[in-house]
Amino acid sequence: MNKTGYFGNFGGAFLPEILVATFDELKNVYSDAKGDPTFWQEYEQLMAGYSCRPTPITFAENLTRHFGGAKIFIKREDLNHTGAHKANNVMGQGLLVKRMGKRRVIAETGAGQHGVATATMAARFGFDCTIYMGVVDVERQRPNVFWMEQLGATVVPVTDGTAILKDAINEAFRDWVSNMDSTHYVLGTACGPHPFPEMVSWFQSIIGKEARRQMLESEGRLPSKVFACVGGGSNAMGIFSGFFDDDVKLVGVEAAGRGLDSGEHASRLCSNDASIGVAQGYKTYFLQDEDGQMKETHSIAAGLDYVGVSPILSDLKEKGRVRFEGATDVEVIDALSLTMRKEGVIPALESAHAFAQAFKEAPDMSTDEIILINQSGRGDKDIFTIADAFDDPKWKQFIIEKARQYNA
Ligand SMILES: *Cc1c(COP(=O)(O)O)cnc(C)c1O
Repeated sequence: MNKTGYFGNFGGAFLPEILVATFDELKNVYSDAKGDPTFWQEYEQLMAGYSCRPTPITFAENLTRHFGGAKIFIKREDLNHTGAHKANNVMGQGLLVKRMGKRRVIAETGAGQHGVATATMAARFGFDCTIYMGVVDVERQRPNVFWMEQLGATVVPVTDGTAILKDAINEAFRDWVSNMDSTHYVLGTACGPHPFPEMVSWFQSIIGKEARRQMLESEGRLPSKVFACVGGGSNAMGIFSGFFDDDVKLVGVEAAGRGLDSGEHASRLCSNDASIGVAQGYKTYFLQDEDGQMKETHSIAAGLDYVGVSPILSDLKEKGRVRFEGATDVEVIDALSLTMRKEGVIPALESAHAFAQAFKEAPDMSTDEIILINQSGRGDKDIFTIADAFDDPKWKQFIIEKARQYNA
């Protein structure tokens, strides 16, 4: 990274003048924390007591036997509090908010997972919390909205524009500009203006640090390949960073949706549909048309359904350090189903993308080799989405009955 927050050709901080001072404050508190060894200790202790860290690695013995190739291990980020790696980022930022002496946090959320994680962190630290969410998403994600409100957050439905994630981002920035002195904006992934991509990746690096140590302890050697799904890129950055200096192949798996040729996907780095641009305060590959208008994206997994991607991953792609692949909705459902039946673990739909790609490659690898898959989150909290994705008739009947009870 050079001085202005660039990773090769990507990144930067394209900010309105009014936010420059707040970003400077954030850069300073982040660099102080990074230079202070007691900060990382405090962070690890917090995560040990609150979020089950270190999360284990699980040997997937039955899947290994099923594919007959590489030994398959799973890093269990699903065992975090609130069910995903998002806890690592929000709790880390919570510690920085405390250091800055601020007492209010805001965030935007699409599917709602980042909103729930942020509301949880705010409750724990005693911060006020406002979550911006497109009105369409508020309607689609009622269970998450319910939890955010129960955790004490104010959820503001945004009706501007198309009333989805990007409109919520604009609204959250408007709030931030008016309340900078008291308020921190908790960005949810390794995207956005500097220092967010680097800072979020730093908090998530706890995954890779643990995983590397655990592989050596358990197997006495490192995996040949590490797989992670890529939405904004934070869980991938987290696990990959543990292996950057090793002879380990890193594979990022994007949402190929209904197929890379269908135009209905969210693959920025493994398709030819994205181009380099500046939006939302940073430079990276975006799924945009020639006029810079963002395209509609699609994925079965709400957490992967995003037009941009971490500038650090764009750089790692160009440098050839990380390979990017896509898994389709159909492949993801098959991988999820197989993993549940064979191992009794339930990956989130997002994480199942990493499993799907690993399953394509495992059979052709030797039995001496090891694969490590990052299970970024758990799927049982996604029962509405997964039951819909499986098109389960008994589930549908249950929902219809519920609705009937309320109408009676
Ligand atoms: C939000 C989410 C993702 C996508 O975010 P990244 O920043 O790409 O990690 C992946 N998996 C799960 C379970 C999520 O909740």
